[in-house]
Amino acid sequence: MPTQNPIFIPGPTNLPEAVRRALDVPMEDQRAPDFPDFTLPLFADLKRVFKTEAGEALIFPASGTGGWEAALTNTLSPGDKVLTSRFGQFSMLWADMCQRLGLEVITADVPWGEGVPLDKFAEILGADKGHEIKAVLACHNETATGVTSDIPGVRRVLDDAGHPALLFVDGVSSIASIDFRMDEWGVDCAVSGSQKGFMLPPGLALVAVSQRGLEAAKSAKLPRCYFDFEDMLKLNRTGFFPYTPAVGLMRGLRASLDLLLEEGLDNVFARHYRMAEGVRRAVAAWDMELVSAGPQWRSDTVSAIRVPEGGDATAVIAGAYHRYGLSLGTGLAELSGKVFRIGHLGSVTELMLISAIAGAEMAMRDAGIAVELGSGVAAAQSWYRQDSDTVAQAAE
Ligand SMILES: *Cc1c(COP(=O)(O)O)cnc(C)c1O
Repeated sequence: MPTQNPIFIPGPTNLPEAVRRALDVPMEDQRAPDFPDFTLPLFADLKRVFKTEAGEALIFPASGTGGWEAALTNTLSPGDKVLTSRFGQFSMLWADMCQRLGLEVITADVPWGEGVPLDKFAEILGADKGHEIKAVLACHNETATGVTSDIPGVRRVLDDAGHPALLFVDGVSSIASIDFRMDEWGVDCAVSGSQKGFMLPPGLALVAVSQRGLEAAKSAKLPRCYFDFEDMLKLNRTGFFPYTPAVGLMRGLRASLDLLLEEGLDNVFARHYRMAEGVRRAVAAWDMELVSAGPQWRSDTVSAIRVPEGGDATAVIAGAYHRYGLSLGTGLAELSGKVFRIGHLGSVTELMLISAIAGAEMAMRDAGIAVELGSGVAAAQSWYRQDSDTVAQAAE
């Protein structure tokens, strides 16, 4: 049955054909003498996507969650204070991991729909005269709510307070899709994963660490083994790994980096804005609301869409899946039943998104939500038809 539609969840994302072909290779010898000819340029190009020259990029066989753990356990010691803000499932889970690893977590929470509260961070960091806070954690793009936070703003707050805490960023659903600049923004540890903006299957945790982060690792006392930066980097410098790397996925990563760098990161970001804006126009035409509480928070990789009062988002998602073979993202935790999400990151086109919007309209109507069929589709069509120069100007 020809029922295979692309998926519109915010990860895993759709595989470009070039990536899919690159993944389909015979197994190879990860200790072959010429293996470094493959791996050393791979690390170098991965650093370009993180926008770091001074730092190091590491590739772990894990998912993004493993990258979180790598960042924490390599640089911190039991009982260290960390500052973070929880405003969605992912920022919540990273804070939870900190607690479970024995860190003392200071949370400056805000309602779901907002992002990192710079004013609260400034207050807390300014009051920490003894510099007991060792790290500040920020979720760049909260995938549960479709909220993008101001990471250069966090850097500014740290600098203004003259605070030496390390800055860790969860960039799992932003890096390679939304502007991210590790060195320029003074990020000490940035975490991503293969299955979102990198358009690969799940299975790689992609992590970049600054020289300050590596320095902190020398005295950090949290137990670590599999994710130890130093073990990894010692071998990586020669082009090899301390244990079997995920060679197949790394072949896919090679293809993904080629696609991203060939298009140019600025073009990749502009494309994500363009894709996202079509979905946002559809939501506005439906007279429905995004979870993100204001235009400054709107994510270009995922939109979390509130169904009207009395509507059942779970029924929309189930109906979309069963009747139309359309995978939409679910509402996570407190948003369950209230929200469906459309992922618009990675390998998606205007026409793919128009099909997702059309499918969402049908599924909403099937679930008893009064939305005019074609209204969102028409709004997205109008946006996508615009000449790309106009679109680029609007993005500025
Ligand atoms: C997907 C995601 C994660 C978790 O990554 P896994 O690969 O599922 O472990 C963490 N943070 C954000 C923002 C994400 O979107």
